[in-house]
Amino acid sequence: MIPWLTEHYGNPSSLYPTAKRAKSAIEEAREKVAALLGCQPRQVIFTSCGTESNHSAILSALRQTRRRHILTSRTEHSAIMKLCSWLERNGNAVSYAPVEPDGLIKLESLQNLVRQDTAIVSVMWANNETGVLNPINEIAQWCHDQGLLFHTDAVQVPGKIPINLSDIPADFLSISGHKFHAPKGIGALYIREPEKFVPMFFGGSQENGLRAGTEAVAQIVGLGVAAELALEHLEQEASVCAFMRDHFEEELQKKIPTVRINGNRTYRLPNTSNITIPGLNAVQAVQELGEKGLCLSTGSACTSGSGSASHVLTAMGLAENDARASLRISWSAYNTIEETNTALDILTDYIQSKFLNLSTPEATQTPSWTVQSHS
Ligand code: PLP
Repeated sequence: MIPWLTEHYGNPSSLYPTAKRAKSAIEEAREKVAALLGCQPRQVIFTSCGTESNHSAILSALRQTRRRHILTSRTEHSAIMKLCSWLERNGNAVSYAPVEPDGLIKLESLQNLVRQDTAIVSVMWANNETGVLNPINEIAQWCHDQGLLFHTDAVQVPGKIPINLSDIPADFLSISGHKFHAPKGIGALYIREPEKFVPMFFGGSQENGLRAGTEAVAQIVGLGVAAELALEHLEQEASVCAFMRDHFEEELQKKIPTVRINGNRTYRLPNTSNITIPGLNAVQAVQELGEKGLCLSTGSACTSGSGSASHVLTAMGLAENDARASLRISWSAYNTIEETNTALDILTDYIQSKFLNLSTPEATQTPSWTVQSHS
């Protein structure tokens, strides 16, 4: 990225040589992102983030038609949920399909809620809190057969499982760079039929007229390189993450048998774990464990601090107090098994100190289990 911030800082819309270089760097990055997604470069536009990609897809669909209904699910990221609630307050109708207790969305749940005036169906591919993978192929195919536009928020997917859009009849797919080691502040949107797309931003003719605004060249170059690496190392990185995650879950459950793992265990990203430790104050735990060097979260990073129980876990049927006792843990291929074991030790030590030392108010309330062994 550095040469594009220092030497080749030309504006890609200009005609002098350094500008043309910047323009060709953008096109090279587009090819790399298209290779990651299994689509054509002309079907990819760069955006500022996953949120913008999601908004662009849904708003474009609403502008392409007079239909006013959006069909989505109860476990979407707030980048979809809050857009939908704003749309509901401004003349649109939204239906939220329920999920199964394991977090999966069934096609029948969507079929039950579709309407004559449905403009777009938007269902996330991988859930950001649990890693649960929805049957996107089946949903996209059904939408396609019904003549319905289909968008998937695939922000959590790149670099973790293969994506091949030549096999999935989706109309839009959103990604975000920082989920696969590109910098923050860059995303992309796949558009199956760019000629029908109604842009969210109007102005300059960047991105073939589909997204006005001077391009963030260095970020785009970073996204391209990250896409190339994600594709090249996908299989190896996924298996390394799954190995560490599965080891962590297994060992944690041996030490603390009442720990529950949330979400479908088969249809799940290889790097994500969502656990409930009954009686834990998860918000407090995340802060205190952070001081010990363990970076975990409750729900989504975007809603942490809001104080509300995870809408994803409650949609799966967890009681509010269990949802508030849940942690989300994720691995990258840059983590090691030693770090995983250290994390296990820190977490079990922490749980033991909270619940067995009986030194905190919650310990006296909910010592419903014991730590089996402690390393
Ligand atoms: N969608 C999902 C599933 C996410 O996990 C996130 C971010 O965590 C977003 C959308 C928003 O992406 P961004 O922060 O790039 O706007």
